[in-house]
Order: sequence, then C-alpha cells, then structure tokens
Amino acid sequence: MSHQSLVLTHFNQFEVKERTLVELTGDSAKVKILATAICGSDIHGSTGSTGRRFTDQVMGHETCGIVEKVSPGSNSDLLGKRVVINPVISCHQCEICSSGKEYLCRSRKVLGVTKGIDGAFAQYVVVPTANLALIGDEVSSTLATAVEPLAVGYHAVVRADVKPSDTVLIIGGGPIGQAIAFACARIGVRNFVISEPSESKRKFILSFAFMSLAPSDLSGFFESSARPTVVFDAVGNAHSFSDAFKFSDIAARIVLVGMDSPDLAIPSYEVSADERSVLGSYCYTNKEFAETAQWLGANSQLVAPFISDVTPMRDAPEMFEKLHSGNFEYNRIVISQDE
Ligand SMILES: [Zn+2]
Ligand SMILES: [Zn+2]
Repeated sequence: MSHQSLVLTHFNQFEVKERTLVELTGDSAKVKILATAICGSDIHGSTGSTGRRFTDQVMGHETCGIVEKVSPGSNSDLLGKRVVINPVISCHQCEICSSGKEYLCRSRKVLGVTKGIDGAFAQYVVVPTANLALIGDEVSSTLATAVEPLAVGYHAVVRADVKPSDTVLIIGGGPIGQAIAFACARIGVRNFVISEPSESKRKFILSFAFMSLAPSDLSGFFESSARPTVVFDAVGNAHSFSDAFKFSDIAARIVLVGMDSPDLAIPSYEVSADERSVLGSYCYTNKEFAETAQWLGANSQLVAPFISDVTPMRDAPEMFEKLHSGNFEYNRIVISQDE
C-alpha cells in the first residue's frame, strides 16, 4: 500500500509524498503513526552536515502510534494498542544481543536513521513487534514521543552506575541534558545541576524545577559545594568535554553522550593520575525503553513542558525551514498525524 511520508528530497528540502509501505515479514507489526518528534539529529542531519542522514530518506525515530496489523503468528494482543517504538532494530541472535546489549548489535538498524529504512515522519511504519512498548492512557501521543530521549537519559545514568548519593553535573541543557536530569530525579539523586549557556534555555529548564547555571558560574559554584562525582557531557565538543574534566572530582566518571564533535582531546593525567573514568553511552536496552514508557505514565505532568510545539505533517517542510533558520525558540517539536 502507499501512504504519505515526509521525504528529505534534497538536503534542506522536504516534500510530503506517497511512498510504498514495506510488507510485513517475520515477527512484525504495521503501526499507524500518531505523533513523531523532530530530534536535534534530524535538524542537523537534514542539512547534510553530519553525514548521518541521506537524501530520499524518511526520518523520524521518536514516535507513538497504534498497532493496526501484525504478521501471521505474531502477538495479536497488540492489535489496536497504542505503543511507542524502540527505533533500534537488532538481530537478537548475535553474542552482543545475547549479552543484553542489543542496542550495540553489529547489524543494528535505526528506524529513520539507517539508510533504506523509512522512519516515522509518515502515516505508517513496519517494525518488529519486539520493538513495541505499550504506553498508558495518561500520556498523550505527543508526549509519548519523549520516551525515546528519556530512555537515552536513563541509560546514561544506568551506564554510569549513578547512586542517589552522587553529585552530578550535566553539561548541556537541551532535550538530552534534560532527559539525564529526569533520570537523576527518577533514581533519587538529590544533587544535580545542569550547565547551559543560553539564558532562555535556563529559564525553560526551571519549568521542570531543575537547577541550572551558566558555564561561567560553575567555578564559583563548585568552590562552595562538593565537586561532581559524575559528569554527563550531553554536548560532546571541546568546550563541554574540557569542562567535564575541569569541574569533576578525583576518580569521577565522565560520560560522553553528546555527539557534537567527531574527535576530542583527553587531558591524559586527569585520567591516569586521578583515575577518572571516561564512558560512552548510546541508546538504551529494550527493557530500559519499556520501563521508561511506564515511568512516563506515572510522571506525565512533570515531563509535559518537554514538548514545545506540534505541527501537522503538511506544514513540516516549513517547520524544518524555521528550525534551520536558528532564530526560533523551541524545545521539542512534534509532527502530528492525529487529524
Ligand atoms: Zn533522537
Ligand atoms: Zn545482534
């Protein structure tokens, strides 16, 4: 069947077009999309600058929909259920998948990211049923798209083995920095602060009641309070990575989540002589994704401001233009199919 999709026809150029939906094979489901958020990686990727998006691609990996069909022999209980989709499609057979880290599968494909797999800026997607997680009625479809970035934040916190007694610095107050802050709150961390240069973003972060500081105020702040035992770099450039070392305590864990720069220098003695650990964090396990969907069910009021705007798909090309212009304030924008 054919369905409407938002196609990146050329870099910086979108068109709503008819595409052919792939057939259901194996253990898969056809999901009618209700809402899909525009990720920062879609905004930067669609200019062609990151090399992580392609022309003729249908992007979209933060999504919520309704299961309309399942392949023969698949779990028919899913039919008619509202779900969020884990966009990381793994083989579930290799050694890495068996070890529980299926998001690192060597043959993983990411919906709306990997070339050749149409994502969720569309009326429908076909995905393995293993990638579906139920979402509670208390969460709107628009807000449900936040499960994906929230799961990224949660996995980073699990990855660093953060304990409630840790002191945490989060560098970068965008959606991923916010998601890490939600994860800190979720596991009961009392002391966490976000470093964010933009004053308007710091103001926005207050809508979640999270504490944030300008990077220039960090030195003063950490003179009078305990230095962070864990730092999350949700930006990933030379500035943020350098701040992660500068402000962290001896033996701290530094977690690189942001992907702004492909190469970063490491202050080697701060790793060797002070035994700091540098960890990478990417995506989430299927279990963390499903648990985050549940957590959002119980905390939807708290997370609600995360979504700043909603646009119908026909207006999405214009919205991307606005986003690329750089003079438009937003947090997360959702493309809605629910008309
Ligand atoms: Zn994303
Ligand atoms: Zn695998």
